[in-house]
Order: sequence, then structure tokens, then C-alpha cells
Amino acid sequence: MSWAGLASLWAGSSNSHNLCAASPDDKPRKGRGAGKGLYEQLGVRPLINAAGTFTTLSGCLMPREVVEAMDEASRHHISISELQQAVGKRIAELVGSESALVTAGAAAALTLGTAACVAGKDQGKILRLPDTTGMRNEVLIQRSHRFAYDHAVRAVGIKLIEVETRRQLESAINARTALLLFLNSADPKGQIRRKEFVELGKRAGVPTFIDAAADVPPPERLSEYVRLGFDLVAFSGGKGLRGPQCSGLLLGRRELIEAAFLNGSPHSDTIGRLAKVGKEEIVGLWTALELYLKRDHKAERREWETRVREIAGALENLRGVKTETFVPEIANESPHLRVRWDEGIIPKKNADVVRLLRDGEPRIEVRPSGGGQPVVEVAVWMLQPDEHRIVAKRLRQVLERA
Ligand SMILES: *Cc1c(COP(=O)(O)O)cnc(C)c1O
Repeated sequence: MSWAGLASLWAGSSNSHNLCAASPDDKPRKGRGAGKGLYEQLGVRPLINAAGTFTTLSGCLMPREVVEAMDEASRHHISISELQQAVGKRIAELVGSESALVTAGAAAALTLGTAACVAGKDQGKILRLPDTTGMRNEVLIQRSHRFAYDHAVRAVGIKLIEVETRRQLESAINARTALLLFLNSADPKGQIRRKEFVELGKRAGVPTFIDAAADVPPPERLSEYVRLGFDLVAFSGGKGLRGPQCSGLLLGRRELIEAAFLNGSPHSDTIGRLAKVGKEEIVGLWTALELYLKRDHKAERREWETRVREIAGALENLRGVKTETFVPEIANESPHLRVRWDEGIIPKKNADVVRLLRDGEPRIEVRPSGGGQPVVEVAVWMLQPDEHRIVAKRLRQVLERA
């Protein structure tokens, strides 16, 4: 597929902005077939992403350099094992981890990391998963940390055991305990916080695993949790890192990372084989990570703040509308704008506003929120240059025409 083709979709729209953030000067060229862009041919309408790095909205857009690295990777055959090892070594050095593995996403990292703790490098056990008979097959988690992606952990054939207090956790640990699982964004909700959790794991000799999938920025998070002592750490590659959408990162102790690799692709008879990564994703994520670490994060944050301010500014003086800035705690940590309206003055439901933005031209998606309240939340960090002006204008139109 061609990015130029993607860009050409926008050539005919009322605004001249370009969908490719990393190459604003890239001239829209013809895609394949009858001068139509790829998505246009398919009848799939691109959108302005004021929602965030949602998988359903295709995560993020990769910088040009990442696309080019993937393109270069696609031109040669290599040994996947050799490439994984070489890239893993580079990534480990970049973030200060003992070892690292590129996975097919943070969810895949959860599955592979769990398999590593359950079957290890034992070939007989690896072949038998998800039948965990006779293996360490219990995973402990704080009840407030249960989350949708623990499915990726349960897929290994383990039993998830919920605890609430430190005492409950300590007494639940036994010879069948495979690992202790922690959801980073749930840290404030649980009774056992990160540091104590790690200590409990170390004392019992059981690996600790933290899911920090959506938790960059800030970039320091990439090293923070291995430094804190977690044995395994999962990140998404296709969110804040702006790598390939189907990529993720498993960081941690060498023994476990090696075992994780043996429990997945390219090895055919493994639980993780269904989460394959190719040379393009492996090289793409490494390149994205290098770029991410070099980026001027302060400047980027200022840019996001400017966007939020401009959108808020456009809605000022609109009767019945109030705005506030907020920064989500831990996951998706970037400035957002919350827009509320008085339904007495502007008789529109949340769903009406969401639909008007979605059905309009260009199509705009905002962050799901509010449980039906008259409020929408706008994320600005996945917007392309100048798109915030379009979002501001459309929001104003939609809320004005009451
Ligand atoms: C997004 C997310 C995942 C899944 O990440 P992928 O990279 O899409 O597989 C897992 N856990 C949490 C907390 C997430 O936010």
C-alpha cells in the first residue's frame, strides 16, 4: 500500500492538509487504479483521530522513517531468529533492560511472557500448552487490576487467582504459582503498589510481570519498571511509540525473554505462534523506538498543549459550553480537552455530537467517554499538523447549531 495513495484521498477535500504527518511536503500522488486512492477504492473513509491510540481506529501513524525502514527490511530475506536477537539486543541497550523481544503487540507480549513463566524452555511443556497439567499454572492478580487483556494471559491455560490484600497475596503463593501480574494503570486502585509488589515477588522467588502497554509518554517509563525490579514488562509498539500497529515490546530478564521467544513464532508448535511478527514489524519497532527516544518530548508536549488551547479558544463564548484540560493518569498521558455542554441550552445528546462529527466531512472521531453525559473528550496527540483547527471548527459548528 502507498502512503501517497492515502494522502491523495485528501487532495479533493476542502482542506489541503496532508494525512502523512511525517512528510507534510509529500505531494499527493496517484494511488493504484483510476487515479483513486486505496481507501477510496475500498469505500473506507479515513478519519481525523481526535480519540487517541485506539486499536479500532488503527492505533497511530508511523513516522516516514519507520515506513522507510520497513520498506528496506522488506527487500531481503533474513533469518527471523537472527533478526530478533540482533534487534532485541539493540532495544535492550536503548532502554536499559537485560533483554528484549519484539512481539505482535502488548497482548502478544502478555501471552509469550506468561508462557515463559509456565513452560520456560522445556520443549515438552512448550508443545503441550495450553494444557498446563503438572506445570506452575496459577497467576496472581489484584482484583482491581483485572482487565480486558488478561485474556491474553488466561490463553496460556493458567488459572487467574484474585487477591486484594498483601496478606492474601502472600498466602496465595504456592509451588504452582507461575507469576504475579500487575496492570500499571491500575496502580492507584490496588492495595499493593508497584514497589511492594516487586518485593513480594522477589521474596517468594516468583516472577512479576507489569503491563504498561499505553504508558508512554513519558519516555522514562520504558526503563522505569525493569529498574524497579519487574521481571517482565509489556509495551505496545503501535501506540505512543508510533511503531507498526501490530508490534509490541517484551522487556525483562534474559532467561525469561529467551523462553518467551521459544514459546512463539517462528517456532511452529507453540502457543504464541498465532502472534507472528515479520521482519518489517521487527525493524519498524526498533526504528520507531530509536526515533521516539531522540524526539524533543518537551517541544512535543508544548505542541499538544497549544492544540488543546486553540480548540478550547474556538469554543469560548459559545453559550452553554464549558471546556477543561486534563491529562489522563498513567495511560495515554498527554493533554486532552473535555468539552461539556448544557443540554438545556444545546439540546443534543452525547451520541448526537459523536455522530455528527463522525458523519461530517472530514470524519472526526473523539475519545469514547461520559456514559451518555453531555460531554466529549478530545485527544490531540494523534492529530496531524493543523487538524486541530478542523476539529475546533467542526466542534463549534456542531455545538452552535442548536
Ligand atoms: C492497548 C493495550 C493492550 C494491548 O496492546 P496491543 O499492543 O494492541 O496488543 C494491553 N494492555 C493494555 C493496558 C493496553 O492499553
